[in-house]
Amino acid sequence: MFGIFDSKSNVAEAKIFFGSTEATKTLRTERKSPYDGTIVSTAPLCDADDTTKALHIAKDASKTAAASPLSQRILWLEDVVRRLTEEKENFAMMLSKEVAKPITFSRIEVERCAETIKLTALELANLHGETIPTDIMPSGKKTMAYFKREPVGVVACITPFNFPLNLVAHKIAPALGAGNTVVLKPTPEAPMTAYMLAKLFVDSEYAVKDALSVVYGDAEVGSTLVKSPIPRVISFTGSVPVGKIIMSQAGIKKVSLELGGNAATYIDKSADLELAAARCAYGAFYNSGQVCISLQRIYVHEEVYEVFAELLAKETKKLKVGSPYEEDTFMGPLIDEESRHRAKSWVASAKNEGAKVVAGGEEVEGIFPPTVMADVTDEMKIICEEVFAPIVSLVAVPDYETAVKKMNDSPYGLQFSIFTNDLKMTQCFIDDAACGGVVINDIPTLRFDVQPYGGSKLSGVGREGPRWALEEFTEIKSVVIC
Ligand code: NAD
Repeated sequence: MFGIFDSKSNVAEAKIFFGSTEATKTLRTERKSPYDGTIVSTAPLCDADDTTKALHIAKDASKTAAASPLSQRILWLEDVVRRLTEEKENFAMMLSKEVAKPITFSRIEVERCAETIKLTALELANLHGETIPTDIMPSGKKTMAYFKREPVGVVACITPFNFPLNLVAHKIAPALGAGNTVVLKPTPEAPMTAYMLAKLFVDSEYAVKDALSVVYGDAEVGSTLVKSPIPRVISFTGSVPVGKIIMSQAGIKKVSLELGGNAATYIDKSADLELAAARCAYGAFYNSGQVCISLQRIYVHEEVYEVFAELLAKETKKLKVGSPYEEDTFMGPLIDEESRHRAKSWVASAKNEGAKVVAGGEEVEGIFPPTVMADVTDEMKIICEEVFAPIVSLVAVPDYETAVKKMNDSPYGLQFSIFTNDLKMTQCFIDDAACGGVVINDIPTLRFDVQPYGGSKLSGVGREGPRWALEEFTEIKSVVIC
């Protein structure tokens, strides 16, 4: 693959993109593998000046980007998909190195990333306006009226660590595809993964010159982007506390926030319990529970509670925990020590308050394992806050109504699901669930990249998915020709 490795060592070296120009700095941060602590990549430590420079480059290039033919931008995205697919193994390995994602799941993320970009290229064909009948009202008159969609100009994209490739694609592909320029600030936990994807965009023969810049860092770089008047959209995926800061600092511009959650499911007594248990183990522990729609709360009808708890414990014990580089590993370590300590202390306090460990609970070779907790009450942290770790809570409920009330009684509202064979209950649930997306007879952790995706309440503002992101990254211009 492209020369990403430092000549003296095996450490990959991310570089800044000031538009199409690569730059480096003597001040660099080292990224260590969360699995074995080895240094896997380095990135320039950018500051407010670097960020402002990138923003001005993006602003200067925005006219050229807006004027670029749509056909060129479609070819651009298709070219990135082709080269990403060719480089799949290198991308997957870098994901496993930087965030300790098990290699099998890293490959899935690369495939999803390619699909997201491909879907965006397909969706660009539908990025158009429509005519408006201005004589529909007695006060109106016949005109030639329509609306068209225009790029917003500059988009600032800020991304999290848990899907550091696909979530970058969900922002930069539609933003660039719509004819904008972009400044990307990826997660500090996976700078190289983001750099490698950005390089595919920048080096493409179809690239719009200077349309994409990438700066590295944390809050200083992020808040410089957010406070600047240059970007017209801030597209953020990350935690609720940072989302709140962004909302308070952004001023008058579009802000799209994809934030946290504590996803829930209800297991009805009519459900296929074996299927539900197998899927719940996957949804709770996939990516070590570090998924915004990770299954965190399971409400189970009291008549099947004991049986379901046993089935879930059995499924959980089958999951292989260990090295992210082994083909059959299901779950690796959490992203950092702080997260591991938080998981341990939340489980310990739940135990003190009367909850029981049904599976897991004790570390395996320094890795916090898949953990099932029973007899969890509403006020315990493991159920009412976003846990973002491999911990799932079981709660017995007398009926559907109690389950849905408990699900909705949360400050978050990202995705909920239900396992049932009762059609009427399914219909009620679709209406009753106070969240951005519902899933019937599977886990709330299900996301198809083609769908609209986002939350209500503290889980965010706006929707992602190529079609909806394209709407977010364009502005409607209304035209009347009299
Ligand atoms: P985070 O909020 O800590 O960081 C996200 C990004 O924000 C990073 O790039 C970080 O450097 C940047 N940042 C930090 N301070 C900033 C500031 N003051 N101004 C601007 N940017 C700033 O989140 P994380 O730990 O990387 O990711 C986990 C969180 O993301 C979880 O809460 C998870 O639920 C959420 N998430 C949500 C979705 C979704 O689609 N709803 C998807 C993935 C993750």
